[in-house]
Amino acid sequence: MLTVCHLYPTLLNLYGDRGNIIAFVRRCRWRGIPVRVREVNLGETVEFKGIDFLFLGGGSDREQGILTGDLRRHASALAAAIEEGLVILAICGGYQLLGLYYQPLVGPEIPGLGILDLYTRAGTKRLIGNVVIETKLDGEKVRVCGFENHSGQTFLGNIKPLGRVLKGYGNNGRDGFEGARYKNVFCSYLHGPLLPKNPALTDHLIRLALARRGMDCPLSPLDDSIEHLANKVMLNRLGVAKG
Ligand code: GLN
Repeated sequence: MLTVCHLYPTLLNLYGDRGNIIAFVRRCRWRGIPVRVREVNLGETVEFKGIDFLFLGGGSDREQGILTGDLRRHASALAAAIEEGLVILAICGGYQLLGLYYQPLVGPEIPGLGILDLYTRAGTKRLIGNVVIETKLDGEKVRVCGFENHSGQTFLGNIKPLGRVLKGYGNNGRDGFEGARYKNVFCSYLHGPLLPKNPALTDHLIRLALARRGMDCPLSPLDDSIEHLANKVMLNRLGVAKG
């Protein structure tokens, strides 16, 4: 049984981010892999050792400000779980909060957990639009598409990006990087939601979660023809179709 945890589902769930949980769960169940979902809200406790896939969605500056104090209660347990290989997907606002801080355009700095070596500062121009990035999953190049809408510009320290921007802005619109990746933590600005649009990434996360529980086996194939077609349409529309 895999356990999925949605941290702050009412606060961190922008632009249908919950679809990431749905995609993860469905693609497990379609293969007969039992999976359950736990929602953890403000003030509640969570035992990260019992979690296989942790999801933090996007949230507005206001929502980030509301939850950052509560999130801090989990900081050391979460940092330890990350070192031990917990599989995490963090999108946009959730991504920013794993870093050192987020400085909004107005108002005080929102401190992050400081687990990942990155920081975010709001720019005057919102970075909005469709995005395509190239990343590597198990050594294979994959084009991942999604939608971004953020004022935060993220800069990476000693941490790898998730991918290279082919279209769109990514982390800051300047250095060509998108997202961040550390151990089994995947961070991205891509809404969409990300996982339903990119089944290869979803399956990669499922495989990592299973492997962490000692079940390191190939996943049975599913019919992804519609997802691949949708992906192809977007790549064509954005002028970054594979040659
Ligand atoms: N508040 C953050 C920003 O605008 C995050 C927004 C989001 O999660 N989409 O940068």
